[in-house]
Amino acid sequence: MDCERANRENIVERYLAGKLDPATIDEWEGHLFACDRCAERLELCQTITPVLREMAPEIRREMQPAKPARRWLWIALPLAAAAMFAFTLVDWAPKPKVAVSSTPDYTLLAKLDPPAYHAPTLRSVPAPAQTKFRDAMTAYQAHDWSRAIEGLKASLELDSAAAAPRFFLGASYLLSGNPQAAAIELAQVATSDSPFAEEARFDLAKAFLAQGRKEEALTALQQCHGDFAPQAADLITRIQGVSK
Ligand SMILES: [Zn+2]
Repeated sequence: MDCERANRENIVERYLAGKLDPATIDEWEGHLFACDRCAERLELCQTITPVLREMAPEIRREMQPAKPARRWLWIALPLAAAAMFAFTLVDWAPKPKVAVSSTPDYTLLAKLDPPAYHAPTLRSVPAPAQTKFRDAMTAYQAHDWSRAIEGLKASLELDSAAAAPRFFLGASYLLSGNPQAAAIELAQVATSDSPFAEEARFDLAKAFLAQGRKEEALTALQQCHGDFAPQAADLITRIQGVSK
């Protein structure tokens, strides 16, 4: 077992769902013991999965209006590992009751500055998914979140494995005041191997904060070890300040 195989075969998700055979479990646990990256990925998936499961009925409702069949196809594609895992669980999982309590206000800390986007110069004719992505990003740069969301979804329907449109879709949802939908998209990018994973973990923390989910936000922030580590550490301190 190595990281690449674990990613390719969605080992983390299948492990959490109890869908691995005993031999693969042995191999995976052996690797897990020695690999910090996979251990962190497991921890993040463990945190995120119950949250996604809880949000699933709401997300489903939101996805119903237009073209339900194609949207289901889009979300069910194998590479959408995290979401798919949550969706396979919702049908039989008991619906958790959302605890309503007087939570501290994290609104200010949850505020997201739009992640920067610089259009790359393409040398070849872009694929249809890329064309849709670039059009959507023009709307994104104009802060037209609803048009950006529509365009990014259209791009993902053509290429569901692309990390950039999913990352900016998550950001656009968060910027348009829909942190639940944002968390679904960002969680998938955060647990992937893409160059957007680190920034997605940071923004995912904000999506959790916007919902008052402090513990999940802290877990996501604790897994920022790259460029976003200083900002993550700073946000952790501020969250703890608000909770006092
Ligand atoms: Zn690994």
